[in-house]
Amino acid sequence: MKKIENYIHGKNISHSKKFLPVFDPSSGEQIGEVVLSNEEDFNSLIKSSVKGYETWREFTPLKRSRIISKFKELIEKNIEDLAKLVSSEHGKTFEDAKGSVIRGLEVVEFATGIPHLLKGEFSQNVGNNIDSWSVRQPLGITAGITPFNFPAMVPMWMFPISIACGNSFILKPSEKDPSCPMKLAELFSEAGLPDGVLNVANGDKEIVDHILNSNKVSSISFVGSTPVAKYIYKTASSNEKRVQALGGAKNHLVVMPDANIDQAVDGIIGAAYGSAGERCMAISVAVAVGDIADKLVSNISDRAQILKVAPWTDNEAEMGPLISLDHKKKVENYIDQGVSEGAKLILDGRNCNIQGYENGYFVGPTLFDNVNANMTIYKEEIFGPVLSVVRANNYEEALNLVNNHQFGNGASIYTSDGEVSRHFTTNCKIGMVGINVPIPVPMAFHSFGGWKQSLFGDHSMHGTEGIHFFTKLKTVTSRWPKSIQSGPEFVIPTN
Ligand code: NAD
Repeated sequence: MKKIENYIHGKNISHSKKFLPVFDPSSGEQIGEVVLSNEEDFNSLIKSSVKGYETWREFTPLKRSRIISKFKELIEKNIEDLAKLVSSEHGKTFEDAKGSVIRGLEVVEFATGIPHLLKGEFSQNVGNNIDSWSVRQPLGITAGITPFNFPAMVPMWMFPISIACGNSFILKPSEKDPSCPMKLAELFSEAGLPDGVLNVANGDKEIVDHILNSNKVSSISFVGSTPVAKYIYKTASSNEKRVQALGGAKNHLVVMPDANIDQAVDGIIGAAYGSAGERCMAISVAVAVGDIADKLVSNISDRAQILKVAPWTDNEAEMGPLISLDHKKKVENYIDQGVSEGAKLILDGRNCNIQGYENGYFVGPTLFDNVNANMTIYKEEIFGPVLSVVRANNYEEALNLVNNHQFGNGASIYTSDGEVSRHFTTNCKIGMVGINVPIPVPMAFHSFGGWKQSLFGDHSMHGTEGIHFFTKLKTVTSRWPKSIQSGPEFVIPTN
């Protein structure tokens, strides 16, 4: 049985004797165990991260960039193995896992440009013979706490940028699928990263609380559910840390009557059921505007019922299992609740049995019609393959639904009307918006983040926002006087 410890100062090591099982979600079998780190683990971790930072801050940005480039090559070389680690512990299809590693790799590529990205601003003669410039300097020890659904991509939203900026980084990955993050840390060491610059601490709330309460840690990056994001934000900011805490989502896709219905259905099927709906940018609500609704529901239903639900080892799988037995039960409870609150169940994913994988955590594609804004399945994040169709009479009603929802991660509109799409992008209260694009995930050189209950803090992930989050701004005003001695000045200089 695989034993997953911590990765501290270039070694697999742990003090705690407490371990938690890790499962293969397709079979429901235990395939490993992961350590639940304690205070002793935390003390080793901090000692190593302090050393790592002291060494790393002396590396020039160009030297850092070369090591990051080597890390990029190693990810490319090991991509199949990394994707297998993701699929075997998360359950998502192999191609989807590979895609998620590539999205993380793109942030590594972005981070190789760090000498350029750290360039500050310079003004000559802000006053007579006075120059002024700004620099961005590292924070020190930074930390990231990440969710189960993207064990490669989400950590890579954070640590390549933090490290490129000259910080050391402590990663606390999800305890449900920790193997891929461990492998990424090993590859970074192989690329030449000094020990202690990237440490991985496994575990649960206990180790997270040590990180949040340590005065040695300067910043916290978090991605996960909204209640935990709020806890992280409040605790870490009251401990005077910089925080970016990304939470849950309920992403709407509005289909206008003039939309290309085939494109909309393609978009909805992939975005609602891909990765079994366990994506923070998954579409969980389709808003059918006007008379397009009947056709839209019937076309989605036709396509969704023939989706191939299978384990990741099946090359034809389009959708895998959920992450855990508890989560499967939770999603099935939501379906029960949708039925009892009066939504029309068109496709029922409960009792999804896959031959040979009867103990796997599978829920089939589920479709509800006639969902309204008062129903629990509309208000809450389900995080499974459950799509709710809400019927709206017109565009204004659709926009109100999007804007009145507690979450504001992503939203899309399908239409052939430029004016409507422009109105939507201008007026929706959402962080990431798609026009005829179902999952508008920003590329690494832009920034990822939602509004409302989907993000707490001021900075999104990666792109320029990431560089700003992981650095402190310093502005220098400089004069080199030779012989002029004018005496003290008691008035603010104005030129
Ligand atoms: P989660 O909130 O349960 O866990 C996230 C991380 O926090 C894990 O590392 C976990 O060990 C830790 N954690 C859990 N409970 C904690 C507690 N009480 N105190 C301290 N730490 C705790 O989330 P999850 O189930 O792993 O992931 C799914 C959630 O993540 C969904 O809500 C999804 O929308 C969200 N998500 C959001 C984004 C985004 O960009 N907004 C991206 C991916 C996932």
